[in-house]
Amino acid sequence: MNKNKKNGGRGLLSLFLILVVFVAGIVAVGFYMNGGIQHKSFVDGELEIHYIDIGQGDCTLVKCGDHAMLIDAGENDKGTQIQDYLSSQNVKKIDYIIGTHPHSDHIGGMDVIIYKFDCDVVMMPDVESDTKTYRDVVNAMKAKNYTNTVPVPGQQYSLGDATFTILAPSRQYDNMNDNSIALVLTYGDRKFLFTGDAEENGEEDIVNTGINIDCDVYQVGHHGSRTASSETFLNAASPAYAVISCAEGNSYGHPHAQTLNELRYRGIKVFRTDEQGTIVCTTDGVNIKWNCSPSETWKVGEATKSSKK
Ligand SMILES: [Zn+2]
Repeated sequence: MNKNKKNGGRGLLSLFLILVVFVAGIVAVGFYMNGGIQHKSFVDGELEIHYIDIGQGDCTLVKCGDHAMLIDAGENDKGTQIQDYLSSQNVKKIDYIIGTHPHSDHIGGMDVIIYKFDCDVVMMPDVESDTKTYRDVVNAMKAKNYTNTVPVPGQQYSLGDATFTILAPSRQYDNMNDNSIALVLTYGDRKFLFTGDAEENGEEDIVNTGINIDCDVYQVGHHGSRTASSETFLNAASPAYAVISCAEGNSYGHPHAQTLNELRYRGIKVFRTDEQGTIVCTTDGVNIKWNCSPSETWKVGEATKSSKK
């Protein structure tokens, strides 16, 4: 009897302790969800984004733990350089390889990468191009028995602890640049935006999807051309940082003065591969770190009166 009573007391004490832990848990979760402390949202480790300097064109490596995504692969003569870079970064296999659109400054080196690395998902817009560059990529895919995954706006994919949402293209355009695959990548509280060479019409349709594109880092559309980064689009994206991928002295005059002025006016910090080489951005889901300081030159790619020949 006495013994039983004692046990009953212990049982009550255990129940009480369980209740205390349970209530404390609820309070902690509530605090967390209200943003009471700076938190990492369910991520462990770091996300790295390498805006690789491949001259005129785009090539961006996203690394998340053992997972890797490559967005574009530069010009035709850049395949081996990109292969070497991926190897130097210990990339053994590519989860996603994305060719934003079939122009040679984006998919030029993609055939080499497909031959050299196993890729889980190959994604290109559902448009064809009558060029050798495009056929080279299609042949590389055939050789590896890969089929194309057609992007659908709103669709979400995961890359380790990171996720990305497809934003474009939502239809077919006569302007090949507007057919670019666009996506927003999320890691913890930080967001990164990629739009390939999408121009004003493509950007308008991205905004019209209603998907939140408010981001921290924006890879400036179409290499800083005045035909991209429209006012409406920048208002929706409102990045703190921008990265421009282009070659010094390129024949297109990228980045254009209009784009640089707009970024400067908005207080956006700018990094550029033509001046700073490969730009590496690292985040733990809260803080963002860079391998160099932002560019302060605001130097336009367009020929000025004095430099015109
Ligand atoms: Zn381009």
